[in-house]
Amino acid sequence: MKMPTKFRTYCPFCRKHTEHEVEKVKKGKEYGLHWIDRQKARRGWVGNRGKFSKVPGGDKPTKKVNLRYRCKTCKKAHLRAGFRAGKFELTE
Ligand SMILES: [Zn+2]
Repeated sequence: MKMPTKFRTYCPFCRKHTEHEVEKVKKGKEYGLHWIDRQKARRGWVGNRGKFSKVPGGDKPTKKVNLRYRCKTCKKAHLRAGFRAGKFELTE
């Protein structure tokens, strides 16, 4: 899928349609343990670890694209729910 870097869309801060710039949200490295990891650690490594014994599933064929929409009028950015796309490109 191709998407323009700039297009007019609704800005929730200006409460009207304005010119927006699209930025890709980079997934930063997450530090620290999540609760699920702590839960896994509590079970130890011996015996059946319940749902954690499952083999992790494969990757989905498409990835969700997260975008940030920055309003050129108020310079504020808002997010929208990501969508799935196999290939994602930003065009000029
Ligand atoms: Zn705005």
